[in-house]
Amino acid sequence: MVKINEHYANIGNNYLFSEVARRVREYKAAHPAERVISLGIGDVTREIAPAVIEAIEKATREMSSPATMRGYPPEAGYDFLVEAIIEHDFHPRGVRLEADEIFVSDGAKSDTGNIGDILGQDNLVAITDPAYPVYVDTNKMAGRQVELLPCHPANSFAPPFPSCPADVIYLCYPNNPTGTTLSASQLKTWVDYAIEHRSLILFDAAYEAFISEPDVPHSIYEVEGARRVAIEFRSFSKTAGFTGLRCAYAVVPKELTAIASTGEEISLNALWRRHQATKFNGTAYIIQRGAAAVYSPDGQQQIRAVIDYYMQNARIIKESLERAGLTVHGGINAPYLWVKTPGSLTSWEFFDRLLNEARVVGTPGSGFGKSGEGFFRFTAFGKREETLEAVERLKGLL
Ligand SMILES: *Cc1c(COP(=O)(O)O)cnc(C)c1O
Repeated sequence: MVKINEHYANIGNNYLFSEVARRVREYKAAHPAERVISLGIGDVTREIAPAVIEAIEKATREMSSPATMRGYPPEAGYDFLVEAIIEHDFHPRGVRLEADEIFVSDGAKSDTGNIGDILGQDNLVAITDPAYPVYVDTNKMAGRQVELLPCHPANSFAPPFPSCPADVIYLCYPNNPTGTTLSASQLKTWVDYAIEHRSLILFDAAYEAFISEPDVPHSIYEVEGARRVAIEFRSFSKTAGFTGLRCAYAVVPKELTAIASTGEEISLNALWRRHQATKFNGTAYIIQRGAAAVYSPDGQQQIRAVIDYYMQNARIIKESLERAGLTVHGGINAPYLWVKTPGSLTSWEFFDRLLNEARVVGTPGSGFGKSGEGFFRFTAFGKREETLEAVERLKGLL
């Protein structure tokens, strides 16, 4: 008889967004004439850059001729994309990477979720709290022990070190859901920690393109020593609206090793290559052509305009909530605003109040982990008119 992976019994069901959807559905059923506006969207809404569309169209036409059609792509990505990534995302920041340290993929969700496949079950894992749910859930699926590192205003959202030495540490900066960042010196304390304890940092930089302040590191490799201890994840999803196209990449430096039971040091770059060669057959050629077009001069200008649009939304939300007397974190280097609920309202109580009295939807902070209780996440990914109307409605309420 077939048996399940028992660890799957330990993961919560995806309660957060389905519960949000359920409450919105119920409200709409009871108030059919009312228009609900969402500031909770975790997905991009602007159209994809014309430079990207053109590149995808051209690559699609190449597929129609035997001379230029492509079959299976290289597992770790085409050279044209890997070279563009290294040249544009890392060289300008003084980070040197080699082509075989980049692994192009279909998403940072799959990368951050699958990376655990190459790590032993007995690793102690530290994860900031609140967090992108993939980190906790995939480690529970693998049966690993997780220690949560609470991040709140009292520690300025800088995670404390784990109570016992962690083998694997997840850091996501700029952060989803809090929108906060770590300075270079804060990040350096984690790199030093990882060097001292021989731990591995999994650094999720999906929101790198939203950084606006000059002193915020864009890559963990800007910190000395990070090549020995960190894997970095990047994605075209939020940077260039690729949530529906699917393209991302992981950086696995060749200095990175982990220990085998024999005592031997094993290259994580080699292990991840083995993993991808076995379980992944590459990102579509036409999509990689689209991703490479993000780095063209037109592409850069076009995606910058979209990011500026979202960040203008963030400013609008932040200023109006602060004028209403709320405490707002984030929204400067990330498209997320992390708002303290007024009084002693729980995240879900505040959700219900916003929905019922302002017809505005956001995401309850408690859904991202225990330390998110009493907070609420707004996103800047909405349309300008709706963002403006939502903050107008909130003014009347708060
Ligand atoms: C959106 C997001 C990603 C991107 O995932 P893709 O699979 O590349 O779309 C990764 N990490 C975090 C924290 C995110 O919010």
